[in-house]
Amino acid sequence: MEQVSSIQNQQSQSQHTRQEASQAHAPSYYAASANTSALREVLNEDITTDICIVGAGYTGLSSALHLLEAGFKVVVLEAAKVGWGASGRNGGQIVNSFSRDIDVIEKTVGKEKIGLFGEMAFEGGKIIRERVEKYNIQCDLKDGGVFAALNAKQMHELESQKALWEKYGNTQMEMLSESDIRSVVDTERYVGGLLDKSGGHIHPLNLALGEAAAVESLGGKIYEHSPVVNIDRGEPAKVVTEQGSVTASFVIVAGNAYLGNLMPELRAKSMPCGTQVIATEPLTDQQAQSLLPQDYCVEDCNYLLDYFRLSGDKRLIYGGGVVYGARDPADIDAIIRPKMLKTFPQLSGVNIDYRWTGNFLMTLSRLPQVGRIGSNIYYSQGCSGHGVTYTHLAGRLMSEVLKGQAERFDAFADLPHLPFPGGHLLSVPFSALGAWYYTVRDKFGI
Ligand SMILES: Cc1cc2nc3c(=O)[nH]c(=O)nc-3n(C[C@H](O)[C@H](O)[C@H](O)COP(=O)(O)OP(=O)(O)OC[C@H]3O[C@@H](n4cnc5c(N)ncnc54)[C@H](O)[C@@H]3O)c2cc1C
Repeated sequence: MEQVSSIQNQQSQSQHTRQEASQAHAPSYYAASANTSALREVLNEDITTDICIVGAGYTGLSSALHLLEAGFKVVVLEAAKVGWGASGRNGGQIVNSFSRDIDVIEKTVGKEKIGLFGEMAFEGGKIIRERVEKYNIQCDLKDGGVFAALNAKQMHELESQKALWEKYGNTQMEMLSESDIRSVVDTERYVGGLLDKSGGHIHPLNLALGEAAAVESLGGKIYEHSPVVNIDRGEPAKVVTEQGSVTASFVIVAGNAYLGNLMPELRAKSMPCGTQVIATEPLTDQQAQSLLPQDYCVEDCNYLLDYFRLSGDKRLIYGGGVVYGARDPADIDAIIRPKMLKTFPQLSGVNIDYRWTGNFLMTLSRLPQVGRIGSNIYYSQGCSGHGVTYTHLAGRLMSEVLKGQAERFDAFADLPHLPFPGGHLLSVPFSALGAWYYTVRDKFGI
């Protein structure tokens, strides 16, 4: 609760976002270890294309890549730099399925339609691996992700989760007993877990940069430092930046938590949230091997969860917590280091080299919001914290719908988009209250 931001902070978020976006990447470990990337132009003329995409995170880049592969002409407009948003700052964990799982979706869509979601739940992770292989993206890809249970209730939920995923053909899961998980992660906190062998982890910014290079290799054009200030809705639409414009048959809005008020109808049904990450100094080979011997990534099963993994150069990358309304905390180490030491007290003498914050977009249902505005503006937003795989699927859904195959896009688009009770003013305290309730339940395993 002490991390909860003020309402004023939320209201100033869009202005703050624009100021931040004029800068370079956040000062993260990822920015410090980014692969070399092309210098990209600012859009300063009026151009025409088939599809204009707003935002060069995974949603925008994955859409661009799928659409270029399908033969469309694509322009991407990015307010700051490729991967500047959550896609270049996240925990790097390839977590399959969606923030709310198939059983929850089934209650909304019914038994007839749930099969489609079951089939899609593991597709995003496969798309990432296809991209890495096809375009030779150097992003420290490692296989294996663990969901770690802190109590018997969570362990029981993981068993149900495994059965649910297996129903849709995902048989690469393995339950880990208390002694099994000790051989995977060197902490006494967990009573067991679930290993997803098709999970894994990546250097997220290098994945985004590699995907951007792939977009350009197929003839796509990416403009950086070109914030979109207006979209003139019409057929065609005109996407206006500070110094130019793109006239396009279709527009894809992929600004997620950093979109500000460009599309008020999208802002009204979502809430930016912050989460923080630290990276230690490189550990010795012996320390790294003893903490995470198989080099899997780990996230716990709490509502406000901790997530961690080793980087390519053997730093521990540890994240956690949520700041509703996306205020930037003054002292990230003070929030995240104690969480890290609770899991790994043996790291008390290890220095923290990097700390950063980033925003993801929460929806009330915690399910992504996908849809059309008018006849030619498409959007996908609000993966509610688990977006690395979903955003890659979203790109494929965008290309399918623009090729005239709407079934899977429409399955998502038909999910209800619920406004936060009380609208913008009350979304932050309302969500904080909800999180507090779930945190108490996690604490007591009820
Ligand atoms: C710290 C952190 C840790 C996370 N860890 C994980 C994890 O381990 N696993 C996981 O699955 N998910 C994780 N997530 C969530 C995941 O990173 C996101 O869901 C995902 O990256 C969202 O991608 P996106 O492309 O939709 O948005 P973003 O990556 O945020 O990209 C949006 C882009 O749009 C641009 N933009 C916005 N407005 C405009 C405009 N007007 N004009 C032009 N450009 C604009 C922004 O500058 C930005 O670059 C994490 C998120 C954060 C913040």
